[in-house]
Amino acid sequence: MSPRRSPVPDWVPEDLPKRPGVYQFEDGHGTLLYVGKSVNLHRRVRGYFYGGGPRDERIAQMVRLARRVRVRPTGTDLEARLEEAERIVSGRPRFNRALKNRSNGWFIEIDWSRPYPRLRVVRSARKPGARYFGPFQGRRLPTEMTELARKIFRLRACKGPLRPDPGGSPCAQLGIGLCTAPCIGEAGLNRYRAQVREAERTLDDAAHARAVRAGLLEERDRRASELDYEAAADAQRRLGWLDELELLRGASHKPWLERSWLILLPHARPDLRVLVPVARGRVLERREARIEGGNGVAPLPEAIRDACYAVRVAELRAEPVFPPEELVPSLIVSRWLQEGAPEGKAVSLDRLGAEEAVARLASRPTGSRPA
Ligand code: SF4
Repeated sequence: MSPRRSPVPDWVPEDLPKRPGVYQFEDGHGTLLYVGKSVNLHRRVRGYFYGGGPRDERIAQMVRLARRVRVRPTGTDLEARLEEAERIVSGRPRFNRALKNRSNGWFIEIDWSRPYPRLRVVRSARKPGARYFGPFQGRRLPTEMTELARKIFRLRACKGPLRPDPGGSPCAQLGIGLCTAPCIGEAGLNRYRAQVREAERTLDDAAHARAVRAGLLEERDRRASELDYEAAADAQRRLGWLDELELLRGASHKPWLERSWLILLPHARPDLRVLVPVARGRVLERREARIEGGNGVAPLPEAIRDACYAVRVAELRAEPVFPPEELVPSLIVSRWLQEGAPEGKAVSLDRLGAEEAVARLASRPTGSRPA
């Protein structure tokens, strides 16, 4: 009786490493088809061919086209995730639909190039002259924040360009006190833009939000003392929305997007380490360092000093809005920091100099929580 034939094709090596890393499938012409990562390369890559193949038709098609697999072991799952994201952004493999679609994040946009700007939730932050808030990981939070800011400052809800027409018909938003109706010239250009400016400052700055709150409180009490209960109730309603907006802003606060870090990880080789510098949330190029002996790779203290310098330079150049290709690595690192930096060490560079970073990374045990 002949031995049972393995479903794994001959071009998949039998001795794939049983450790974390990145793999990529290519077709017979060397075209990149798919990039993935795993905590066990051997099990993941060979697993594509067992059980009748992938159930997802897209991945099944990729496997039918594949004729070669390349792997790169890493010391940690974090490094594998970062490498996977980089390869997907740079290589745009045809079958990596999910990560490509996720790479933009969500933003609140105020397009100041329009005379009557709206607050909108968009997927990219590239329009010249527009102001953006974000990125946000999903659509729900910026949508709720936008709706609250719109109601507090009575901004228009209608879509498209607006040309004021005093003889036109405003929508119901005017009747329920949620819009100052620039569509019929009820609010002129300057007044409407001042409303939008207030919304922008409130989204931007917690201190300004507190000043807006104090103003609404004062208005509510004054109107009540004048027996204008309708206006007092309106101020109270806007106060409630402002409080909700502040709660959501708290939920959306991402300290990692504003902070700088230096992360030390184990390497696939025991004599090396991987350094991940992060400048204001941007993940910079990773570096290798040797802990002892070895040639061609910088010793760890020297590599830490270089990485600190790179962070300082990048901080000076950082734009307020993340380009989409920088967003995914940043979110990966932020999640890892929130999980307590498993398998590695992380020090915040916000108040540390290079020598302190050298001392801390050399002395703290692997896997300690970020400082
Ligand atoms: S009242 Fe006019 S400007 Fe306001 S949302 Fe309605 S149509 Fe737009």
